[in-house]
Amino acid sequence: MSLFPQSFIDDVRLTANILQVIQEYVPLRKVGRTYKGLCPFHAEKTPSFHVDPEKGFFHCFGCNAGGDVFKFLERQEKLTFPEAVRLLAQKAGMTLPEAAESSSDESRQDAALREGLLKAHEVAAAYFREQLVAQPGARARQQLADRGVTAPTLEQMGLGYAPPTRDGLRNRLLKQGFSESIMTQSGLIVRRDNGELIDRFRNRLMVPICRDSGAVIAFGGRAMDGDQVPKYLNSPETAIYSKGRTLYGLHLSRAAIRKLGYAVLVEGYFDFAQVFQSNAAPVVASCGTALTTQQAGLLRRFTTRIVLSFDPDAAGQGAAARSSELLVTEGFEVNVVVLDKGEDPDTFIRRNGGTAYRERLRTSQPYLEYLLDQAATGVDLRREQAKRQFLDRMLGVAKLLPDAAMRDQFAEKVAFKAQITDDVVFREFRKLAVKAQRGLAAVDLPSLGELKKAEKDLVWALIHDPEQALAAIAELEEGDIEPLATADVLRVAQTLHDQPLELVPSELLRRLSTMNADLVTSIAAAATPPTPAAECVRALKRLRCEREHSAVRREIDRLQQRGETGAALDALLADMRDIAHRIEQLR
Ligand SMILES: [Zn+2]
Repeated sequence: MSLFPQSFIDDVRLTANILQVIQEYVPLRKVGRTYKGLCPFHAEKTPSFHVDPEKGFFHCFGCNAGGDVFKFLERQEKLTFPEAVRLLAQKAGMTLPEAAESSSDESRQDAALREGLLKAHEVAAAYFREQLVAQPGARARQQLADRGVTAPTLEQMGLGYAPPTRDGLRNRLLKQGFSESIMTQSGLIVRRDNGELIDRFRNRLMVPICRDSGAVIAFGGRAMDGDQVPKYLNSPETAIYSKGRTLYGLHLSRAAIRKLGYAVLVEGYFDFAQVFQSNAAPVVASCGTALTTQQAGLLRRFTTRIVLSFDPDAAGQGAAARSSELLVTEGFEVNVVVLDKGEDPDTFIRRNGGTAYRERLRTSQPYLEYLLDQAATGVDLRREQAKRQFLDRMLGVAKLLPDAAMRDQFAEKVAFKAQITDDVVFREFRKLAVKAQRGLAAVDLPSLGELKKAEKDLVWALIHDPEQALAAIAELEEGDIEPLATADVLRVAQTLHDQPLELVPSELLRRLSTMNADLVTSIAAAATPPTPAAECVRALKRLRCEREHSAVRREIDRLQQRGETGAALDALLADMRDIAHRIEQLR
């Protein structure tokens, strides 16, 4: 259920400019009446993402994503519908209706919980900072100094210290009036088996993890002593923190990433600290685990050029390899910087300085070339079997590449490396390309070919000529609609008769499931002049009659085969004549 009155949603939609909203995320170019750009929802090099500002919808011909301005924000920002309405209203400077806030207890509770958790983290961050500069933090300060972290960096990162006491933070939170429920749900305080509440983080150097707005939503705690396990202790997932959707340091680097057009991705907090402090490059940290698609999406809002700067021992394997592969699959331009053995960005910069590191970034190698080199190292490619194995491995890599031009380039390099005649490699890559494309994240829509022309045209008219379409659709009965692939769309359309006409297209998209909205926009994006709506409806009714006709026909055949005569058969024959007559009338 929506939180807001329909009239408010309509106002927001009319005020919001879908073009402006989408342009905040996707650069668009005008082509005729519509706008075109690179799709934010799938990896591509040639634009297949369209925005029709007049009809108020977007559609991607590549992955079939589509919808109105709300659906765009829901997808792009991973919001619920009410959250998308709220965000749009805020962007447009509109005041939220007060009744809306109280109309759903559940969402009010959610909002209150999130608010409480954010406040608890704010208090915790301040507490840890105080502890770091006070007497208990002396050793932590010394460790930071030993690691070459300067005071301004320490301050910008908001570093702190959790003392060894079990109740320091707990008492602070209690004093500030936080409930036990908020304390435990924040993950900052844990309840022991005996019921006692104690601090989760003890004797640790504390690194606050922030949203890109800067609000603290979690902490990473690094052990102070070598025998302390685990070495890194992180906040659990909470209502405000999802590890897979957060990139460390984005709030500090986002402006620089936008400005310089790329980001360096490092593994740890201290790698981040050194790169950030030396001003060598805009940097974010993955914090040890493989990147998720959501994190890649987060990065894409700022740049599609990434330099991976990982431990050389790890670069080709494990989390680092999976991150690289994910970024390549998602269409990022990925380079790899390989430092000397045993070095990470932290130790490298402390030893050689930021300028030397920047030089390494400048000479970083495209990830694919790096992989090629790695795969060819220590292999005698003159041997037929080794060559075959190498080619197989590289085909595995090629499978990840989202577009044909990239695959061709890669094939060329593979061929060169293995001294194979190009043709052979190209042929293998092409074969694979056909397969790979099907594997990409395209939404599974009923293929447009499976739709009856009449239903397709009717759906087209719903967006482009809602008045005619609604009048025609009102004539349809459940029996006409039921077997159609667009049944849900048409049923929703039948509920729209009381809508102002100019809002019908977007209101339809809003009420549909994501999949059906995709289906509708993929039909609406086509420029074909359709059959008039009324005629479509007649065609659909005719189809229903034909279905009924053959059902009756089968029943008659069955009776006649059993040698039956009499009233039942007569009734069926009468039905048949009746249906034939109706079909005739519908022509
Ligand atoms: Zn797309």
